Amino acid sequence: MKTKLIRVDAQELHDGKNESREALREAGEIIRQGGLVAFPTETVYGLGGDALNPESSKKIYAAKGRPSDNPLIIHIADIKDLEKIVKEIPQSAYQLADVFWPGPLTMILPKSEEVPYQTTGGLNTVAVRMPSHPVALEFIREAGGYVAAPSANLSGKPSPTKAKYVVQDMDGRIDMIIDGDGVDIGLESTIVDLTGDKPMILRPGYITKEMLDIVLGQVETDPTLFDLDSKEAPKAPGMKYRHYAPKGELVLVEGSPEAVVSYINEQTSLHRQQGEKTGVIGTSEMTGRYEADSVKIAGSREDETAIARQLYTFLREFDDEDVAYMYAESFAGTGMRQAIMNRLLKAAGHKIIKVN
Ligand code: AMP
Ligand code: MG
Repeated sequence: MKTKLIRVDAQELHDGKNESREALREAGEIIRQGGLVAFPTETVYGLGGDALNPESSKKIYAAKGRPSDNPLIIHIADIKDLEKIVKEIPQSAYQLADVFWPGPLTMILPKSEEVPYQTTGGLNTVAVRMPSHPVALEFIREAGGYVAAPSANLSGKPSPTKAKYVVQDMDGRIDMIIDGDGVDIGLESTIVDLTGDKPMILRPGYITKEMLDIVLGQVETDPTLFDLDSKEAPKAPGMKYRHYAPKGELVLVEGSPEAVVSYINEQTSLHRQQGEKTGVIGTSEMTGRYEADSVKIAGSREDETAIARQLYTFLREFDDEDVAYMYAESFAGTGMRQAIMNRLLKAAGHKIIKVN
């Protein structure tokens, strides 16, 4: 299959430039015909298909090499469109939509009969999000209003934060890729389940527990997410897979700055003796102290949005640079740090070393 690459600039779209509108019309038509289009959102790039067409969902799983028990998120552009795909909309969904939509929040709700089981991985619930990226919103409208879209990476690889990484993974596998530049947030949406007794976070993200608590009162967090020894499967089926993973081996290093630097430098020297490259994900407070072959500085320790935005890009760059061993500083904490640590731990297959 030949994959068409088009560029749509959010500003030009806003200015009403016809070419951008035409391009999105063409992209929408591909979805209506049952094809697949990758598109930018504010979190990561999505791989879209018609959410109400079971054949489209099957194609998404095939293009990604994704296990078909891992359900897709349906992206909508207008709140009234929720009614068609959700059986009963709880008040809490409207409260959250009011504050966080359009934006990086996915809600799990009871599905209606309109939604095929191929899209929900066999579940009776459906995941729904309204993204805030203007190109995504316009594309969803052109596509008929319901776009099922997981992240646009091959299953197991880090989610794409730039169109060039979508091209790397999806060229020849899908009909079209919309290049809308880099993303803002860089981590997948927060997922909150509204089908249980109490709202529960199934995947941490930019919208934090603290932010959700303000709107809904106490929100719980899936206890399996941070319990490394948990025998129970996470409640979001996708969270059980070792995803977001780079080719090399990643380890998180936790401890005092001195101990972290000396441990990573010792390991670097060992790997170097064996002719292997080492990479580090660190913060600007540590600039100049790492001796690794590839040192990625995410910004200040205080700036968690910068760390989130660049994390997957760094993992992809390490792959391109053939880095065999990677070490990351630990970012344990509350708020958005929960999302950063969740993705880092998954990328590292939960390997974390404590040094003193
Ligand atoms: P991705 O689109 O690649 O970010 O993956 C979507 C995530 O949403 C996966 O972790 C899924 O398991 C999760 N998800 C989608 N639908 C549901 C659902 N109905 N219930 C629980 N988790 C879901
Ligand atoms: Mg994904």
